[in-house]
Amino acid sequence: MKKVAIIGAGLSGLTLAQHIADIVEVTVFEKFHQVSGRMATRVHAPYTFDHGAQFFTVKHPEFAAFVHHLTQVGLVGSWDARFVEVDGTQVKKSRAWEETFPHYVGMPDMASVGQYLAAQLLQKNVAIRVNTQVTNIQKHEAKWRLMDASDNVLGNYDWVVTAIPAAQAANLMPSSYTHLSTLGSVVMLPCYALMLGFEQALNLTWDAAHVTNSTLSWISVNSSKPGRNMHSSLVAMSRNQWAADNFHQSESWVIESMMQTLAGIAGDQVMQSKVLQLKKWHYANAQKSALGHVLIDSGQQLASCGDWCISGRVESAFVSAIQLSQAIRSAL
Ligand SMILES: Cc1cc2nc3c(=O)[nH]c(=O)nc-3n(C[C@H](O)[C@H](O)[C@H](O)COP(=O)(O)OP(=O)(O)OC[C@H]3O[C@@H](n4cnc5c(N)ncnc54)[C@H](O)[C@@H]3O)c2cc1C
Repeated sequence: MKKVAIIGAGLSGLTLAQHIADIVEVTVFEKFHQVSGRMATRVHAPYTFDHGAQFFTVKHPEFAAFVHHLTQVGLVGSWDARFVEVDGTQVKKSRAWEETFPHYVGMPDMASVGQYLAAQLLQKNVAIRVNTQVTNIQKHEAKWRLMDASDNVLGNYDWVVTAIPAAQAANLMPSSYTHLSTLGSVVMLPCYALMLGFEQALNLTWDAAHVTNSTLSWISVNSSKPGRNMHSSLVAMSRNQWAADNFHQSESWVIESMMQTLAGIAGDQVMQSKVLQLKKWHYANAQKSALGHVLIDSGQQLASCGDWCISGRVESAFVSAIQLSQAIRSAL
């Protein structure tokens, strides 16, 4: 069997592994201590925070089938949030999200989806090596040799696939990769995620807010999502361009700025948080004008997938992996 290394255990890497593990021997490498990538959850007991993807919607039939299965096994639910549109600090529109166009979340948290896929892969004898950052890919005889930052050899592979943000893939892939300049052309913007945990329930008339004309772009009452515990938690996302403009500011400056804006929208009650954390996402969201397709170099046996190939959303990560699995199966 050919040996394939997949770099990145987010939704795209794990989905790709699922769809090629019957014809090749797969190893997945993940730099973080847990899988699921930007479908991320931070636990600060008793609080949990989805500090990456907030929800996802479904259009593609194969993604619909996958989400239907996850719903059946209780790992995904519809978040029927009280949704508002906020302009500056003022609520301009409100409506309830409903089951006719579901806004899905992982249960009991967003990372559950990746963890479920990883557990299934382990049953298929796919190796998932967490805490392992691939930093170098070299030609070694007829194979690709993967190395870490201490020059440890992580293995020799016939194919290497990146399932990581485009800019990181551009830094990692060998110079012979045909699609290196395409990778370099994909723009992904940063984002700050502020996480707040409270002793008291928040007094708000909404659960999810899309914010315009503000430092913030989004606010979720995380604890209003289905399957969460009762401890009141809130996640606020910065605007991507604001994060880019203030990427090198100190953490305390960013927290102070975001807290002031948040208080303007949700009231001074947010200042009473018992837990306050900040996550700085370097490559959070791909710009909408993404490529529309995955990258494969059959001659070199190198390829790339990820949300950014399509549109920077959870569904795009899944669909990109399906597309690449089909391309790799044909190439083999
Ligand atoms: C703040 C934020 C909010 C978002 N909100 C939404 C939303 O509401 N709805 C929506 O649909 N989408 C949202 N998204 C986007 C969504 O999270 C992504 O589209 C999707 O999770 C991307 O999956 P992926 O597998 O392509 O990449 P990732 O999830 O980024 O997975 C890549 C993985 O590769 C690992 N990795 C990177 N480099 C290496 C290396 N060299 N070696 C080993 N491992 C490596 C990373 O640790 C990561 O686990 C949001 C993202 C962020 C950050």
